[in-house]
Amino acid sequence: MRAMVLDAPGQPLAARELDLRAPGEGELRLGVRACAVCRTDLHVVDGELPNPKLPLIPGHQVVGIADDGRRLGVPWLGWTDGECRYCTTGRENLCDNARFTGYTIDGGYAEAIVADERFCFPIPDGYADEQAAPLLCAGLIGWRALRFAGDAERLGLYGFGASAHIIAQVARWQGRRIFAFTRPGDEETQAFARELGAEWAGGSDERPSDELDAAIIFAPVGALVPAALAATAKGGVVVCAGIHMSDIPSFPYELLWNERSVVSVANLTRQDGAEFLALAPHVPVRTEVQLYELADANDALAALREGRVRGSAVLRVA
Ligand SMILES: [Zn+2]
Ligand SMILES: [Zn+2]
Repeated sequence: MRAMVLDAPGQPLAARELDLRAPGEGELRLGVRACAVCRTDLHVVDGELPNPKLPLIPGHQVVGIADDGRRLGVPWLGWTDGECRYCTTGRENLCDNARFTGYTIDGGYAEAIVADERFCFPIPDGYADEQAAPLLCAGLIGWRALRFAGDAERLGLYGFGASAHIIAQVARWQGRRIFAFTRPGDEETQAFARELGAEWAGGSDERPSDELDAAIIFAPVGALVPAALAATAKGGVVVCAGIHMSDIPSFPYELLWNERSVVSVANLTRQDGAEFLALAPHVPVRTEVQLYELADANDALAALREGRVRGSAVLRVA
């Protein structure tokens, strides 16, 4: 099969012909149709996450067809031990021994993938392969982050990329008010956010038109934490939804005072996936995608790194 391979962090992916490993007990072989590109892929490729499998096939938002014809999604959470104190208390997202697709096991920047059947999700009908792929991380980890925002009515979204463009649609459908923050001066993305129902969109250095009850930070920028706290009302929560963030600068206690909180969201549970994939067609969530061929994965990563992607970048494989 053809695959795009990371030999060492900091290097471009290399196009290779590889043999797919044989599926083990409980595993499926899937022919990959599409794989969406996540910011986490960039963190892996750029060496910001420790100890990836090497060489590695990245990609954890995989839509594929199993040998028996079922269309399935392969998400970030690829395997858990089922027996640690986290797994046995409904928190498999925090499993001590979890394996992650496209990080510690091979992912979907390839023509085929082997995945543990227990961690695959059926893809809802009505979504084309490339439209469905971003639901698998941008969508469902965004959904987990949105749940951490509680019943906040005025919701700030910092970084209006793949995840925010999906979660804004869900949040509007729930009746929340959306305030979207982009890189300062990125008027194109601000206009995109307004199209998706944001009542205010501006730069992350601006104050929104109203206080926020909660903020979700999708951008990997630690300085946004005190900025979001400053924009948040008493009792509000700031949710950090990414796997990696630059250091958070120190800030006066006053920003946290009055029962504000800061929390991170890690990975997903299978429950999150089942819930979100059942919900998405009802909203209905529509994903905006920019398509790339598998061989152009490095171009897709570069576009994401430079903030040139509207919605989600997706590799089309079949
Ligand atoms: Zn576990
Ligand atoms: Zn992801």
